Amino acid sequence: MSSASHDIRDRTVPRGDPDIPAYDLVVVGSGIAGLTAATSAAEFGLAVLLLEKTERIGGSSAMSGGWFAFTGTDEQAEAAIADSAELFLADLLEAGQHRNDRALLETYLRHQHKTYRWLKAHGVVFDEVEISSGQSAPRSHHTAIKDVLAGLHAAFTAAGGHIQLEHRATHLRRDCSGRITGVTVESADGQHQITARAGVALATGGFSRSTELLSTFAPEQLTAIPYGGKGNTGDGLRMAWRLGAGLADMSCVSGTFGSHPDTGEDFHELLTAYYMGAIIVNKLGRRFVDESRDYKSLGRAVLTQPGALGFEIFDAKVRAQSRRGVALKDIDTLEDLGHVHRADTLDELATQAGIDPATLTDTVSRYNCAVTGAAPDDLGRTSLCHGVGQLQPIDTPPYFAYPAKSLLTSTYCGLTINAHGQVLDIDGEVIDGLYALGEVTGGFHGASYITGTSLGKGAVFGRVVAQHIAAHSRPPNSP
Ligand SMILES: Cc1cc2nc3c(=O)[nH]c(=O)nc-3n(C[C@H](O)[C@H](O)[C@H](O)COP(=O)(O)OP(=O)(O)OC[C@H]3O[C@@H](n4cnc5c(N)ncnc54)[C@H](O)[C@@H]3O)c2cc1C
Repeated sequence: MSSASHDIRDRTVPRGDPDIPAYDLVVVGSGIAGLTAATSAAEFGLAVLLLEKTERIGGSSAMSGGWFAFTGTDEQAEAAIADSAELFLADLLEAGQHRNDRALLETYLRHQHKTYRWLKAHGVVFDEVEISSGQSAPRSHHTAIKDVLAGLHAAFTAAGGHIQLEHRATHLRRDCSGRITGVTVESADGQHQITARAGVALATGGFSRSTELLSTFAPEQLTAIPYGGKGNTGDGLRMAWRLGAGLADMSCVSGTFGSHPDTGEDFHELLTAYYMGAIIVNKLGRRFVDESRDYKSLGRAVLTQPGALGFEIFDAKVRAQSRRGVALKDIDTLEDLGHVHRADTLDELATQAGIDPATLTDTVSRYNCAVTGAAPDDLGRTSLCHGVGQLQPIDTPPYFAYPAKSLLTSTYCGLTINAHGQVLDIDGEVIDGLYALGEVTGGFHGASYITGTSLGKGAVFGRVVAQHIAAHSRPPNSP
């Protein structure tokens, strides 16, 4: 067991069965959602236990690009970016194909600015604002995500919270009225029961690492590269599902387009050069999708191409926009890894990358012609990203090709919740004492996720859940 762990029985407030440790709130999962909920609740004076099944905190959040979607921020104002909550809502609904639960979107928009301020007050630095998948205005705010998580962990501990690593919640416990009263946990020491007086919050992430759940809900995604936190096997989903929880958006799972087939666990490789001016072709040299669409749709489209493989094709103008160390835009590091082909002519580039040369040359020439307005684009593309940004011809050598597949980073579907984060059963009734937040939940994204809304959602709903529990419980140690 890690040194960050303590004996659960040390710091609890005894009540009920003296043999069962009791807390006000038990949070399961230590990604952005769990850490935010746990930290906020501890700061409200609740006795909080945070359980993490792996040996370290962070889950998928720690692997992520670190982009949070917020509007009305200092960084947007400094860059004179025109944006609004209304535009943000319209983008969320459009990407979600209006399948989103509007109440959850409205909660996000109502609380996102306070969450942004709360994160800043906890030392979070937003160092870049960019436009990305599904956005009509630059509102992806970049952070050093590992620092964000470490900072929240420190704040949680400082507020009196307790964390148990390598402790896996396996079952929810409920009383005869149906109220959730705690969890059963497995660790190296065996099985324990833990009481949660005010609630259990499931923040266990998605199921991108569960072949079984993917085979059930999204079998076509088994050809994408499996990714995301190692512990993301859908445990929270199964625990609540077993008790009759509702499920939403289960048919909308999609990987993200833009990762090299040899993407490893150490460097989380994802390039969106198509939002900077690249086109995407298959091995035959043909384009197959409007590249300005959200990268989940691109991820779905590439699965039907030969070898489920696409190539981001770009020229020196796009190459010059690379930002070393900034996820999605870091061509420099991908070149260092030997994952980008470079050549002085398109013909040489195609031969090097294994693309049909004659077709690639013809495809680029047709695209360039459409960019000048001389002919309509074959795939109807009119912008760099979601209606924003002027297309540029691919005409300045050297030329580059980045082979990429769909990366199943996340699943973005799951338990139905209300605007307070309370889990709803299949009939829409609240399961008393049970909350869920972050990637384990469904209903927020609808058909598709847009950049920054998952870290954003985890943080926003982390605070919403903590506030709700604090307001509806009278912990014995509250001020
Ligand atoms: C490479 C990559 C890049 C991404 N980039 C972005 C981005 O820039 N912006 C964005 O918004 N989203 C991004 N995403 C998606 C985003 O990171 C996740 O959707 C989000 O971090 C999920 O947060 P979470 O707290 O819900 O879950 P996680 O961060 O996955 O945390 C869940 C935790 O729960 C633990 N757990 C699971 N089951 C149990 C159990 N039974 N008992 C105890 N613990 C358990 C897991 O081990 C894990 O630590 C990216 C994802 C990846 C993989």
